[in-house]
Amino acid sequence: MTVVCAWCGALIAPGGEQLSHGICVSCATDFMSRLPRAFLESVADPDGTVTLFSGHKLPIDPRSASSR
Ligand SMILES: [Zn+2]
Repeated sequence: MTVVCAWCGALIAPGGEQLSHGICVSCATDFMSRLPRAFLESVADPDGTVTLFSGHKLPIDPRSASSR
């Protein structure tokens, strides 16, 4: 099954003829930046990341994570 990003159309996972939609890491990062911080913290793992269905782990605040 081929998975493409529903937002920008980027290929996420090459596969067969069947097409499914997901979200790529860059769109997920952009999407998360628009969500309320309190919501992100409520769904984040103890290490401060949110795990996407695709298995990618995104820090809820990339700037503070990189400065630590
Ligand atoms: Zn995308």
